[in-house]
Amino acid sequence: MITSIPPSIDAEAFARARQRCEGEVDAGQLERVAAELFSLEGKLTWSVDGEPWTDPMGRDRPHLHLSARGHLLVPCARCLGPLQQAIAIERWAALAPDESSAEQEDLEAEAYDVLVASPHFSLAQWLEDEVLLELLREPRHADCSLPEHLQDDRTSAFAALESLRKRES
Ligand SMILES: [Zn+2]
Repeated sequence: MITSIPPSIDAEAFARARQRCEGEVDAGQLERVAAELFSLEGKLTWSVDGEPWTDPMGRDRPHLHLSARGHLLVPCARCLGPLQQAIAIERWAALAPDESSAEQEDLEAEAYDVLVASPHFSLAQWLEDEVLLELLREPRHADCSLPEHLQDDRTSAFAALESLRKRES
């Protein structure tokens, strides 16, 4: 099954049946992600696999695995210019039967998330949440130069210091 926007699934049934779906989504199709981008070029290849699972406490917790790869064009946290950021996401989520056990187990578990096993589980929303977490890292150019007017200020400040030092010596 290849789809552009990740669909909603019955999370528990999907995982128990070891189903898989995958696709390719344009940056602009993920609304909340699009709002954070420099421009809408770029796309992500994603897939979701399900499997039955028993958690370390012996609880029956079907599992989903989300994988996403691609490049997005984000604003550099320093100069706000375009920066190509590689996205590489691998997340595991155990499915709990209700909100309160999901919250509690999510606090306990460090290596994976615990989400509610909704019959209308939105893969698009999950993917968006995880991509937004990646974008929170404030990416910046490795060789970022400041915008020109700031550079001028800095250069003139250095020049002023330099001429002071020369006068003192
Ligand atoms: Zn920059």
